Amino acid sequence: MNSFNRRDVLRLGLLASASAALAGCGVPLTRVPEQLNALAVAAPGISTCAAWLAQPASSPIVMLAARPTRILVHHTASANTSDLSQAQAFSLARTIQQSHFSRGWIDTGQQFTVSRGGYVLEGRHRSLEAAQGGTGHVQGAHCDGQNDVAVGIENEGTYMTVSPPAGQYGALVSLCAWLCQQYGIPATELYGHRDFNATDCPGDVLYAKLPQLRSDVAARLGVQLRIWPTTRTGMTGERVRSAQRLLLAAGQTVSDDGSYGSGTASAVSAFQGGVGLTPDGLIGSATWERLIRTVRRGDSGPAVKAAQGQLAARGYAVTVDGAFGPATESAVKSFQTGKALTADGIVGPNTWLALES
Ligand SMILES: [Zn+2]
Repeated sequence: MNSFNRRDVLRLGLLASASAALAGCGVPLTRVPEQLNALAVAAPGISTCAAWLAQPASSPIVMLAARPTRILVHHTASANTSDLSQAQAFSLARTIQQSHFSRGWIDTGQQFTVSRGGYVLEGRHRSLEAAQGGTGHVQGAHCDGQNDVAVGIENEGTYMTVSPPAGQYGALVSLCAWLCQQYGIPATELYGHRDFNATDCPGDVLYAKLPQLRSDVAARLGVQLRIWPTTRTGMTGERVRSAQRLLLAAGQTVSDDGSYGSGTASAVSAFQGGVGLTPDGLIGSATWERLIRTVRRGDSGPAVKAAQGQLAARGYAVTVDGAFGPATESAVKSFQTGKALTADGIVGPNTWLALES
């Protein structure tokens, strides 16, 4: 773990608790003075609402004093047009705004839009101004429960079976990197709409690209982050069972049945609340970083069982008994060698990440 990584994790905890306390209450939050990133990211060209001839919002925009803590990726679920022009991008923005007015919203729901041609547009009025300032957040209407804390980016197209065009994906990386820089959002905190609401959005293919997006954004920012697999309600399998065992090791009450239901979500929220993270019941990178604990020969308990379960699921000859003996140590060393990790037989953060990925 390098200094950026550690600081990001610490900062995330700080921001999450601060935003939970302050979101929407009008108390100013001073900007974190240190640079999050090692590389300065230039602002991408962003067409303002005035440029694409937006109509005025029907009510005053709500500017929240706390900065957002995550970015949510959407797809517009509109046609995968081959028209990559700026005129198409502007037309799309106007169509979205009209559609959102017709839902009774005061303005476009999302803060930003990325066209298939790679044009980046302001969505809701004042979103660009807020991001340039880096301290405030325009309350949006793009994801139930997240509108006070998340910046929404709509990507033109439908990405259930195909990928976004390279130009669009590149523009998305540039926009996310700049927003992360402006707001001090760690690159790990990029999510899909489906992580929080029951929806296909942002499409199976674009959703599957989110780990790559986090990694590409981190590279643009010049930071090295451990990027963990988002684990949440509805999922099943050894990773879920492992998380449940780590929750048990942290003193939470949960069944290690490998099925992420409401009981697991409650245990995750309780754990998050206890360590100063936003209690959203979803295990993203910040939560994984707090949940894992280093285990080695001589240790025992559910965290050892979590590591043993992952090793057994990968075909290593270990007994999943929660006792870290010579056979477990030997399996860990073999696993580490196979992953080009230091073969020390200790399950620390990088070995945990390899086990859970
Ligand atoms: Zn969406």
